[in-house]
Amino acid sequence: MGECFRVRVEKEQFIFCAAHFITYEGDKCERLHGHNYRVAVEVTGSLDENAYVFDFIALKHLVRALTDELDHRMLVPMHNPYFRLEADEREVVLRYRERWWRFPREDCVLLPISNTTAELLAQYLAHRIRERLAEQNYFPEVLCVEVEEAPGQTAIYTWTKSAK
Ligand SMILES: [Zn+2]
Repeated sequence: MGECFRVRVEKEQFIFCAAHFITYEGDKCERLHGHNYRVAVEVTGSLDENAYVFDFIALKHLVRALTDELDHRMLVPMHNPYFRLEADEREVVLRYRERWWRFPREDCVLLPISNTTAELLAQYLAHRIRERLAEQNYFPEVLCVEVEEAPGQTAIYTWTKSAK
């Protein structure tokens, strides 16, 4: 059967305002700056006994909890080969060549990604959402996460169950 149901949540509360900088072209590093990121999430799956793909309220709670973790934080990539990262419970120090930045630890979120591009933030959020859904014994067919970094500038990550 060629049928498909999906639900999408994209709410004003899925905005997180965060600081970051990325490295690009190997030897370039942006200045510290911020974005008002907006997130949308789509879940594709079959209908349950309520004729839901997934309960909207529960999905909104879940996404909101994850975007709240990133809100008003400095987004720090843990696996960027160009940064030297030192972190303890009090502070985070990032070094890139002769430049360095020091942040209070509680103002930072350390992310297991190589660069804080919208693409990798979308992939990270999708991974976290799948973890949370799995805790509720829910396994989507397809999970799509969009991260808009600036108006009209959105990265989209799609995870598919059948993919290797
Ligand atoms: Zn940026």
